[in-house]
Amino acid sequence: MTTTCGRACGGTVEAVERLAHLADAAPAVCVAEGTVVLDDARAAGDLRTEMCASFHVGLAHHLLAQDTEALAAMERAQALAHELGDRVCAARTLGGLGAVYAGFGDDEAAMELLEQSLAACREVDDEPGVAFALHQLGVRFQEMGLFPDRARELLHEACAGFARLGDQFGLSAGLSRLALLDVAESEALVDTDPELALSLAEAATQTAARAVEHACADGGSSRLLGESLVHQARALMAGDRLAEAQECITEAAEHHEAARTTSLHLHLTVAKARLARLLGDWDTAIAELTRGIDATHALLRAQERVELLAELVTVHEDRGDAVSALAAHRELLTATLAHRDESAERRARALNAQRDLERAELTAEMERLKAEQLELANRVLAHEAAHDPLTGLANRRSFDQAIKARTAAPDARLTCLIGDLDHFKHVNDRYSHLVGDEVLRQVAQVVSAAVRGTDLVARFGGEEIAVLLADSDDPDTTTRVCTRIRDSLAAHPWDDIAPGLRVTISIGAATRRPGEPADSVLARADHLMYQAKTTGRDRAVLDT
Ligand code: GH3
Ligand code: MG
Ligand code: MG
Repeated sequence: MTTTCGRACGGTVEAVERLAHLADAAPAVCVAEGTVVLDDARAAGDLRTEMCASFHVGLAHHLLAQDTEALAAMERAQALAHELGDRVCAARTLGGLGAVYAGFGDDEAAMELLEQSLAACREVDDEPGVAFALHQLGVRFQEMGLFPDRARELLHEACAGFARLGDQFGLSAGLSRLALLDVAESEALVDTDPELALSLAEAATQTAARAVEHACADGGSSRLLGESLVHQARALMAGDRLAEAQECITEAAEHHEAARTTSLHLHLTVAKARLARLLGDWDTAIAELTRGIDATHALLRAQERVELLAELVTVHEDRGDAVSALAAHRELLTATLAHRDESAERRARALNAQRDLERAELTAEMERLKAEQLELANRVLAHEAAHDPLTGLANRRSFDQAIKARTAAPDARLTCLIGDLDHFKHVNDRYSHLVGDEVLRQVAQVVSAAVRGTDLVARFGGEEIAVLLADSDDPDTTTRVCTRIRDSLAAHPWDDIAPGLRVTISIGAATRRPGEPADSVLARADHLMYQAKTTGRDRAVLDT
């Protein structure tokens, strides 16, 4: 399958570096740990970590043949790279997406994405990204099996890049692939030019051995070591060095236990079967291949099934079992056709899942907006329910509630003012109701400005204003407040509204007696206000 460089997207956080390593060494562990890292990053709003973690988790899913998850994670990484304006990561995620598309069999899209990634990485001078894209492209050409020379060229260039960067991992992956190319050529030439086939096998063995060395130098990614060893075993078998091949396979199988990737599993199966065939152990070869073929059915891997069936045909032929060989050959043809269908199905499945995810995100966003709107509407309603639309003051209802609440404690002190504008009917009659309304608005502002912020000013009735002076029972204070209100009204430039306009107020001020209920305080204030009216208006009458 595909070899991918786990370090293609750098991250500053230690956790991200660990994910980068695990993506290749133990992809299943990478996915499990990645979930935690991603949750934390999302909770913290740390987009950079989320981007890098998504990239590595995407590669891990890809190696585990979990295409839908791989695509979702890689696309998330790409979206974040764009959001953060990180051109390097954006260029690399194109390569990551290329690998994912190759995984579900869309070679065309894969090649296009990888070419784009290569160009983008070159543009931002990102050498690791360039090497990664070259390597991926080489792998694509190799796996398509049509252009081995182009594959060799790209892989050599990638290896040169990895060597310059001191990237042991990349170097090992590249050499491992180059070895496989030589093996394939050697195997193809074994009947026509056995001598050349043998020398190619020797070269492949040495290249694969170097791949193993670099994999060890890297710290031993299990998957990479496993694959390098399998390829080395293939090379050794091509050179007829079966005992050494057996050793490599045994060792590779141990690494597979740790890495557990689909690609290594299938490579290993082919190698084991081939060794068994070369040793004349047909039953083991057939058993290995049958198990592998079953696995490809479960994993929807027709591409690998084709390879396994081709090997099975050879086993039956070598054994001289023409009937079974023919049956295997038929199956091979079916698998070749199925490969196309499965690729399409996997692609469709991955894309459908993607659409579902997008739809779910949109629905969630819509729900959020709806809730926000509702909350806003409720706040507007609550404000409207408590305020007077003309003056913006608290309305009678909220004033009554406030005074009731303040009189709950029997010894709570408060003073209540009720002011009624003098001869307001006259204002309306002489200047119009519109002027009357404007006067009410400005009176509200003047009175509010004349009291403390903690005092409650309300529109008590038509042209009546009430003020609740909390914690206040001092007659001097009450007098000062009433005077301030009346002075402010007297000083206000009413002429600006209408020439000759004057506004005065009559105020009744009642201070609560111990234990007195709210209604009684209000009634006394109202009564005192009438006293102010009957004794000449434009004055305040206090209850002391
Ligand atoms: P008084 O000095 O005895 O209080 O005389 P007054 O004319 O103010 O008499 P009263 O308080 O009985 O009348 C209140 C007037 O206020 C009656 C009504 O037309 C007017 N008014 C009440 N609400 C509004 C309002 O929202 N806008 C306007 N423009 N006028 C209002
Ligand atoms: Mg009135
Ligand atoms: Mg009045």
